[in-house]
Amino acid sequence: MINLKDKVVVVTGSARGIGKAIALKFAEAGAKVVISDINDEVTQSTVAEFKSKGYEAFGIKCDVSSFEDSQNLIDKTVEKYGKIDVLINNAGITKDNLIIRMGEDEWDKVIAVNLKGVFNCSKHAIKYMMKAKSGVIINIASVVGITGNAGQVNYAATKGGVIAMTKSLAKEYAGRNIRVNAIAPGFIETEMTKAIPEKEREAWAASIPLKRAGQPEDVANAALFLASDLASYITSQVLVVDGGMIG
Ligand code: NAP
Repeated sequence: MINLKDKVVVVTGSARGIGKAIALKFAEAGAKVVISDINDEVTQSTVAEFKSKGYEAFGIKCDVSSFEDSQNLIDKTVEKYGKIDVLINNAGITKDNLIIRMGEDEWDKVIAVNLKGVFNCSKHAIKYMMKAKSGVIINIASVVGITGNAGQVNYAATKGGVIAMTKSLAKEYAGRNIRVNAIAPGFIETEMTKAIPEKEREAWAASIPLKRAGQPEDVANAALFLASDLASYITSQVLVVDGGMIG
């Protein structure tokens, strides 16, 4: 059983979906979790849900594409709990289209949230982790950042970029005892994938060697492992959580 008692963990985009499952998994392991999302109302209702289960949780609204919001998220976390042990860069969006039909706004928005958002939060968190000479960053990438995907040039570019950022940051801060890894989920059942027509979703699930779509908890389990001391010799890696999808 992994014990993260008194560890302070910030999860972006954690009011729902994979981020919420990660926050819950860490709370169950004894961590103090900071729930953060772009929508304050949903953020606070997730915090209330966690507190009603007896977990230590704190909510901070943050649009990760904003440099100021991201700084506020990390600073307020340290003000409240005195430190930040783990940052999970989870917030992400899709705006799918073939490039021929993709608007500049669809490109810019996905880059701003999925790529710049990881820069924003990591930059501010690393400042505190460097002082503490300890820290863990986990970036939620995607298998399409490895394989590419038609209709997702913007999204795939960000996720490939996140993998490259992960490896660069890992090298920059290994000497300060800060580990940086990525998780590349495959097809996980959340609001994000509900946008895909049902027939297409069924076909995807059938093509996965383990014969099922992933659940947010599958990704949360991987995050818990990477954040724990069991992974103390693992940095600069991409852990694929996809039921064997990309082989
Ligand atoms: P989701 O269900 O859409 O949840 C994402 C959460 O992030 C939502 O609460 C959303 O808030 C929030 N968010 C959106 N823009 C934000 C911003 N600018 N700042 C802060 N929070 C923001 O998505 P998910 O499936 O859980 O995805 C989580 C991560 O996993 C993403 O990085 C995604 O790319 C990655 N991923 C997912 C899959 C999958 O199959 N689901 C596969 C591979 C990778 P609103 O709802 O209010 O917009």
